[in-house]
Amino acid sequence: MFGMLDDEQLAIRETIERFAQARIAPHAADWDATSSFPRDVLEELARLDLMGMTIPEYFGGSALSRLHAAIVYTTLAEADLSTAVWLSVHNMAASIIARAGSDELKQQWLPAMARGAALGAFSLSEADAGSDPSALRTTAQRAGDQYVLNGSKMWVTSGSVAQVFVIMARTGPKAISAFIVPSDAPGLRVGKIVEKMGLHSSPTTELILEDCRIPATHLLGFEGDGLKIALGALEGGRVNIAAAATGLGQAAVTVATRYARERKQFDRTIGEFQAIQCMLADMVTAVDAARLLTYRAADLLDHALGATREAAMAKCFATDMAMRVTTDAVQILGGAGYTKDWPVERYMRDAKATQIFEGTNQIQRIIIARSVLRDNAR
Ligand SMILES: Cc1cc2nc3c(=O)[nH]c(=O)nc-3n(C[C@H](O)[C@H](O)[C@H](O)COP(=O)(O)OP(=O)(O)OC[C@H]3O[C@@H](n4cnc5c(N)ncnc54)[C@H](O)[C@@H]3O)c2cc1C
Repeated sequence: MFGMLDDEQLAIRETIERFAQARIAPHAADWDATSSFPRDVLEELARLDLMGMTIPEYFGGSALSRLHAAIVYTTLAEADLSTAVWLSVHNMAASIIARAGSDELKQQWLPAMARGAALGAFSLSEADAGSDPSALRTTAQRAGDQYVLNGSKMWVTSGSVAQVFVIMARTGPKAISAFIVPSDAPGLRVGKIVEKMGLHSSPTTELILEDCRIPATHLLGFEGDGLKIALGALEGGRVNIAAAATGLGQAAVTVATRYARERKQFDRTIGEFQAIQCMLADMVTAVDAARLLTYRAADLLDHALGATREAAMAKCFATDMAMRVTTDAVQILGGAGYTKDWPVERYMRDAKATQIFEGTNQIQRIIIARSVLRDNAR
């Protein structure tokens, strides 16, 4: 299963697995039931250098390769998908600051983000601008040495717990720009906290900007670069989500296999029934296929080779796989699977979100098809 990983990559996996199974997995059901964000885990992730995976070492980060990061997200998500999701969003926000921020902004934010003292959030979507982010309406108007932001953003992962937001806003009729907005900026407040089907320990919120003033130096890149910056970061984000979905699928297979070995009906374990065997065979094959697509996309990104199609393929396949495999795990557990006594119902609720965020799977299929039609099918 891990045939393509070298010794160093396997060692990273083992370290993260030990941590995640001891410090995250035992609490995931409770965090889900109480919608709690695990702040103490954030600090421990910082000590493991995981809060700075996309941050250069010069600024206190660990600058992990995309492939190493994919291994980390897969392994964390086997314990809890929510943790992998908010960590991925944090590292995506940090990657934008590292790539497009001025030296002063990097110095101000990246060491704090790597230490876990500042949690990052990424805010592109709005209520009426999801799959089509170019329709966003939040404005940022230049006023002397400041920008003044007005509007409302939606679906902000970690909106209620983050200290630093990367926010995309309109600076002209055809120009979208990216800004760093600290959580204590005057005029910024958290709106409603979204009540979701799953991912309960990863808070998702609305953000309201009312004459929110930030220094003009908080612009990332140049005016008009915002959409390019956001979409570029989402390519890596998609590989992270593919990795996390792979971990979620793996967790579902692990529980379903254990149950199939133990549960008896008709004086036999249900694992002796061919119908259950075929389901398990399809599930484990799909998880491995998702893992391979994900590692390939990560490896391409590491080698600065275009990976738009491969990242979309990995995200689309792995998240559809997670939905299917978690649903099958509930089926294998029968009535028990439909209860809170087992984790598979949570896995199934969590899986659904992965088909929607970082670009829905309909949008991923459009990206793949466009690439095939433009270039070729190979
Ligand atoms: C839990 C969660 C966390 C999120 N976190 C963040 C975050 O941190 N930051 C952020 O900016 N956003 C975040 N999002 C927003 C997410 O990226 C959007 O929900 C997603 O892009 C889809 O947008 P939408 O919900 O407006 O759906 P819509 O765009 O309204 O889509 C509705 C349906 O129409 C389909 N559709 C739309 N356009 C097309 C088309 N051209 N062809 C075919 N089908 C189409 C879609 O696939 C979907 O099935 C989050 C969302 C969720 C659920």
